[in-house]
Amino acid sequence: MAIVTAVKVPEGERRKLQLQSPANLRVIGEIEVDRLDDVQSALVRARAAQKSWGALTPKKRASYVFKALKILLDNMDDYVDVVLRESGKAATEALMIEIFAACDVMRYYGKRAPKILKTKKMNLHGALRFSKKLHIIQQPLGVIGVISPWNGPFILSLNPTVQALLAGNAVLLKPSEVTPFSGKLVGELFAEAGLPENVLQVVQGDGETGAALIESGVDKICFTGSVGTGRKVAVACAEKLIPCTLELGGKDPMVVCADANIERAAAGAVAGSIFNTGQYCCGTERIYVVEEVAEEFISSVVERVKGLRQAAEGEFDVGAIFFERQLQLIERQVQDAVEKGAKVLVGGRKNPELDGLFYEPTVLVDVTHDMDIMVDETFGPVLPIMVVKDEAEAMHMANQTEYGLSSNVWTKDSSKGVKLASQIDAGSCSVNDMAMAYGALEAPFGGRKSSGMGQVNGQNGLLNYTFQQSVIVDTWGGFITSTHYPYSLEKDDGMKKFMRFLWASPFGRLFT
Ligand code: NAD
Repeated sequence: MAIVTAVKVPEGERRKLQLQSPANLRVIGEIEVDRLDDVQSALVRARAAQKSWGALTPKKRASYVFKALKILLDNMDDYVDVVLRESGKAATEALMIEIFAACDVMRYYGKRAPKILKTKKMNLHGALRFSKKLHIIQQPLGVIGVISPWNGPFILSLNPTVQALLAGNAVLLKPSEVTPFSGKLVGELFAEAGLPENVLQVVQGDGETGAALIESGVDKICFTGSVGTGRKVAVACAEKLIPCTLELGGKDPMVVCADANIERAAAGAVAGSIFNTGQYCCGTERIYVVEEVAEEFISSVVERVKGLRQAAEGEFDVGAIFFERQLQLIERQVQDAVEKGAKVLVGGRKNPELDGLFYEPTVLVDVTHDMDIMVDETFGPVLPIMVVKDEAEAMHMANQTEYGLSSNVWTKDSSKGVKLASQIDAGSCSVNDMAMAYGALEAPFGGRKSSGMGQVNGQNGLLNYTFQQSVIVDTWGGFITSTHYPYSLEKDDGMKKFMRFLWASPFGRLFT
């Protein structure tokens, strides 16, 4: 991410923020911070535009998403360039996390939305079966506020936006102030695809604009970011009585069993911890390896990490730390670990060869849960490895955390892997791979404990951008209503008989 500094502006004017590239520290642009009145005006426009957008069939709405997909595929290098300029991540990672994943999201939900959003007609149970039918209509919520973070600046802006649009909502998207241009790209992509004006608007700014978005009166907030901000968002949404999903931070554990394929587990540890320079919400943040295989595992990890190439341009594996605040946090956590007895096997410092914000890929051993690096989110290219006696201890330590986003378990026995996965108190777990759930779009995704509230993705993720309106239709055209006057003792006797038939007779119970 770029580095953000306030620009001096005359009093009364909108604040401005200047951005620098984290890879080479060059100035890459400025944004003007939208205020509450700007967001409120955008909301008025969005509400007006949503009416006709929400009235389109899901298939028609999907056609705009497919147009956007084509534009993205035809121009992917330009999109990658924007992401690289403000994030400094490795080009392959920009292509993989941001563009590949965005294409997948657009096709996946565009293709399935018409079926998922179709009105469902069903029979009712019990007494109502004979006289009523239920129609469940998936109504759009109205205007959705999407607030996104800086670590996946394009995909984490695009994924909720696409789902909300397909469900018939208008969207106000507020990207992170650290990566505003990748978020802006989402708006530009859909404008080029011919999306009706004001159905998707991008508002820019920092926390002030994010808070204004909630305050403005949108109908739902989809927030991705840190635990601290997530708590503020939850409180603000509660005040407005609007729903929110909170996708927050994590401290994901990796468990390496004695029967794991050690080479693969070592490769998975390096990929899981260093992918996106470790700034991946489901990144592997702490590793527990059983002592029987610890030596072999650690030496394989060390060899692999030593082979990684870090650079600002060209072909390389590990990019910049997106944001200076992050770099300081990583430095502080590693220093704290070393002071408390951890040993650095590789890295352990800011890369002295590069001018930008680069932290060397780092392997730490002799770590304990007294160290910040084993309990607080790091969000950096660091692998702290703890040797444990056995799997039981590994599982116990894996659950010693206030977070619960994702996790991964390594064993040659897949059924044992699934059993261990079910014992980890986290929203998702991968067996024999790094955390995968956000990219597997069928998978409900969300965090337990402090890692979030609500779930996104999957069929229910799309439905969560709607409210399910229940319409009960009388099969007999209103011939008899459910409550009918005048009441009488005779009718009560009839009702008692009917109740005994329904719940006390084997035949009656067939209808319940
Ligand atoms: P952050 O909380 O600092 O900011 C996130 C967004 O919230 C930004 O757009 C910011 O401008 C906005 N914001 C700040 N104050 C606000 C307020 N008071 N009201 C409304 N909006 C406000 O997070 P970040 O540093 O940008 O992102 C990194 C964090 O995000 C990490 O903790 C990471 O684990 C988490 N994350 C989670 C997921 C997930 O799916 N669970 C995905 C990616 C990142």
